[in-house]
Amino acid sequence: MEHYDIVVIGAGPGGYVAAIRAAQLGFRTACVEGWASPAGEAALGGTCLNVGCIPSKALLDSSHHFEHMAKHAKEHGIQVTGLGMDVPAMQKRKDKIVQTLTQGIAGLFKKNQVTWVKGTGRLAGGNEVAVMDAAGKETSRLSGTHLIIATGSVPMRIPCAEVDGKRIVDSTGALAFDAVPKTLGVIGGGVIGLELGSVWRRLGAKVTVFEAMPEFLSAVDRDVAKEAQKLFTRQGLDIRLGAKVLSAKAGKDGVALEVELAGKTETLAVERLIVAVGRAPRTEGLGAAEAGLELDNRGFIKVDASFRTNLPGVFAVGDVIGGPMLAHKASEEGVAVAEMIAGQKPEVDHGHIPWVIYTWPEIAWAGATEQALKATGRAYKVGKFPFLASGRARAMGETDGFVKVLSDAADDSLLGVHCLGPNASELIAEAVITMAFGGSAEDIARTVHAHPTLAESLHEAALGTDGRMIHL
Ligand code: FAD
Ligand code: NAD
Repeated sequence: MEHYDIVVIGAGPGGYVAAIRAAQLGFRTACVEGWASPAGEAALGGTCLNVGCIPSKALLDSSHHFEHMAKHAKEHGIQVTGLGMDVPAMQKRKDKIVQTLTQGIAGLFKKNQVTWVKGTGRLAGGNEVAVMDAAGKETSRLSGTHLIIATGSVPMRIPCAEVDGKRIVDSTGALAFDAVPKTLGVIGGGVIGLELGSVWRRLGAKVTVFEAMPEFLSAVDRDVAKEAQKLFTRQGLDIRLGAKVLSAKAGKDGVALEVELAGKTETLAVERLIVAVGRAPRTEGLGAAEAGLELDNRGFIKVDASFRTNLPGVFAVGDVIGGPMLAHKASEEGVAVAEMIAGQKPEVDHGHIPWVIYTWPEIAWAGATEQALKATGRAYKVGKFPFLASGRARAMGETDGFVKVLSDAADDSLLGVHCLGPNASELIAEAVITMAFGGSAEDIARTVHAHPTLAESLHEAALGTDGRMIHL
């Protein structure tokens, strides 16, 4: 049995980053991962690289270009004739990006001397990990002075809409359609529903989103959510709130849906249906119960503030421990655990984790929402600047949305920044850094921003908390 300083189970953004950082710190490190690509090849990178962040963004970009050409090229004086969409070519591009990046991780493992042990890792007691093949047969066993569990998450299932991988799919299936469905239903108006719903809408599908909650994007700042709902509806997404899907039956040509809306039962037919109702922690095959690993009542691995589980020497990070299910959160936790084992004192700033929804315009935020501040009774100031008044946004033809800054009424500390607009995903970084350094709206207002840039809108919104906006 091979012994390592650190054995990581799972090679998603939590696990592979933990393994690389551990190796950088001089630990003899192994990472157990059994993911197989659709072609049957073993792959690193987890959900994020294989069927999550990266492939979804590749399709979002392709479909964005297509819609831009179809709807906006003319206003730029660009003449387009015979515009068409080759879906297999788009999918091939996406697959190539995924393959390049996952192979890149394998290269990083080699360079850092992390041993990739292919298979499913099962806790075998006493910090031993049994490695199983796809048939469930033990192929090897290794031990680690420390174990880091980073087994991620899987799509949640609902009994009324059974995923068959053809007509009714989860996010993985929705990333792999070989043609644009004429009609597409989406159960769940959350991050995945909006991103993948947008991809196929832009390419021509008539998309209906069935969201159980009465409010659109209930965790998002209300100003942003309301404006986003208006814009997405204008784009053609049919968003049905307070919708209860009673049944979804896959047939030869499509899916028959029964949905309760405002107390009435409606029947609808769609060519394909995506189920995107959240993700659940993945501990299947890990042998958690046999090993005595403590889970909470929703199946997440219980950890303390230092990511320690109840088992000595066993840590856990990423989606499997709960909190925001985001790649960057998982990676920061992975780095922190490796550094903690090395005796350092890292901290993950869970209070300022940026969120992004990669629709167009994009939605990005960090810190508190206005409704949360109201609920806690904290006195705050608001500055809001629309992209309509931004020279750069005008030049780009991207004037939808705004930046909203919330700062403390007494000491001006930056409490939250909410952005709906072009490249919001990039703009939010400045807000996160300011908040992480304990900065104020005035710090952003006093910082010189290049002209003409979209970032000037954040600058203006920060000035706005003090009634000093120049361009509005
Ligand atoms: P995962 O990435 O799920 O990796 C876990 C790994 O562990 C997997 O490779 C799995 O095979 C392996 N594993 C599980 N059990 C075992 C075992 N017993 N033995 C060995 N290996 C095991 N997040 C963002 O921040 N930005 C985005 O834009 C974004 N887009 C997304 C789009 C989609 C469609 C989806 C589904 C998710 C998206 N996410 C995004 C979420 C992001 O993918 C996850 O938060 C992130 O992958 C979590 O990382 P992780 O390492 O905790 O787990
Ligand atoms: P989500 O939690 O974002 O949204 C799920 C939505 O489904 C919610 O609005 C919920 O109210 C609704 N819902 C739940 N049950 C329902 C039902 N029976 N009928 C109708 N609606 C129902 O989850 P998701 O979109 O599946 O994404 C999972 C996670 O993956 C996200 O929370 C996020 O952490 C991660 N992710 C992140 C990104 C990103 O960072 N851009 C992109 C995709 C996924």
